[in-house]
Amino acid sequence: MKNPTWQRDELILALDLYFQLEPGQIHGRNPQVEELSELLNQLPIHARELRNKKFRNANGVGLKLSNFLAIDPGYTGKGMRRFGKRDQNVFQEFAHDRERLHRIAGQIRQAVGNEELVDQLYQIQDEEDLTPLWQVQEGKVLYKLHKLRERDQSIIYEKKELVFQEMGCLICEACAFDFERTYGKLGHRFIECHHTTPLALSSETRITKLEELALVCANCHRMLHRKISDLTVPGLRALVMERRKGA
Ligand SMILES: [Zn+2]
Ligand SMILES: [Zn+2]
Repeated sequence: MKNPTWQRDELILALDLYFQLEPGQIHGRNPQVEELSELLNQLPIHARELRNKKFRNANGVGLKLSNFLAIDPGYTGKGMRRFGKRDQNVFQEFAHDRERLHRIAGQIRQAVGNEELVDQLYQIQDEEDLTPLWQVQEGKVLYKLHKLRERDQSIIYEKKELVFQEMGCLICEACAFDFERTYGKLGHRFIECHHTTPLALSSETRITKLEELALVCANCHRMLHRKISDLTVPGLRALVMERRKGA
């Protein structure tokens, strides 16, 4: 069985380590490479039954890192000449934005450090329509973490209570849809909550504050998730208003 293709999260972690190493340190016997190999084996991305014995072993990880040598214009020594399109894309995207790379890698590492959390993240399904156009820049692990946090019913209840007390209704912050107005009793007190903290800043240890939650209808919530890396609730509101003006 062939091992699954490297995903964005994995490439982010690998590239982050690559930038910390000298070319001579890139090999499977380096303890840092071994550590990355172990970490990749913890990521809740590839189903465990799709992995073979060699899945992301230290040698393979060392080879992957040396692919970056071939892409790196700063490296003039001899080395591998083979690399994939994804490797190249991730390299080009982050070569001049290493701070962001390191921050995202750190957040992924933190999430994966918690075994119980990893099991929960495994259970979050991938979005069926995450085509490359809608790729989550911060990778799947942080996206799943976002979805997991939005399952916390107690904070959602609190948020809805608070807004209902204040406004007497629950309307979508992006499109102003009011479930009760459309559906009557059936829609009473129904709305969803979206976490507004950017993925790269979210952390599983942080307690959600009520002001970090936006009330949105189910449609707007799906739209926000389609472009989660750069679409905010005010951004979506502006888009909806613009469309309505044009209509
Ligand atoms: Zn809406
Ligand atoms: Zn959300």
